[in-house]
Amino acid sequence: MKREINGLTVEIDRTLCIGSGSCVALAAELFEIDEKNLVRFQEDPPDLDPEQVKEACSVCPVDALRVHDGDEQIVP
Ligand code: SF4
Repeated sequence: MKREINGLTVEIDRTLCIGSGSCVALAAELFEIDEKNLVRFQEDPPDLDPEQVKEACSVCPVDALRVHDGDEQIVP
């Protein structure tokens, strides 16, 4: 699943997520843990600061979160 957040494209690979919650801790406005203990996007996330988005996605221990800025992949 993908979302456009303030010019960045954020992609979740739920097949990799282990439900650590690290991304939620840093960006609860963007991510939440569902009933299967996997991450998903909040229904209507606000346009977060791109630095916060990058940081929240960078902490994923299994690289389940990818961020693109245009054609360039900036996380992981
Ligand atoms: S940090 Fe990674 S493994 Fe942890 S909940 Fe977020 S996507 Fe899943």
